[in-house]
Amino acid sequence: MTTDADCLFCKIVAGDVTADLVHVTERTVAFRDLNPQAPTHVLVVPRAHHANAAELAAGDPVACAELVSTAAAVAVAEGYGGDYRLVFNTGGGAGQTVFHTHLHLLAGRPMTWPPG
Ligand code: AMP
Ligand code: ZN
Repeated sequence: MTTDADCLFCKIVAGDVTADLVHVTERTVAFRDLNPQAPTHVLVVPRAHHANAAELAAGDPVACAELVSTAAAVAVAEGYGGDYRLVFNTGGGAGQTVFHTHLHLLAGRPMTWPPG
């Protein structure tokens, strides 16, 4: 499995950095965002290091699909199965700050469109 010793989310997956884990599968780990933007704000990451969603989709489409199904399961578990937003920021200009792909699950408040 690909990992990056300098990557924050690889460290969370390995258990070397503490996070509030809410769901784990063979291929994914989900944990609460440190700076939540909604009552439920969870990040779902693949265990393997991929810089962004497109690289994950190309390299491991099963894990990519599992990010979405995991996010959906967490949304249901938190009582928001019918209304939630999923976001992949890709590139610094789009707001990506951690370059280990992560799916944002946001739920529990009204969402506006377009996003900022
Ligand atoms: P992005 O800006 O799309 O790359 O998202 C990175 C997210 O990671 C931000 O929402 C941060 O609040 C979140 N974050 C940064 N460090 C941690 C951490 N140690 N534990 C949980 N979430 C974090
Ligand atoms: Zn990583």
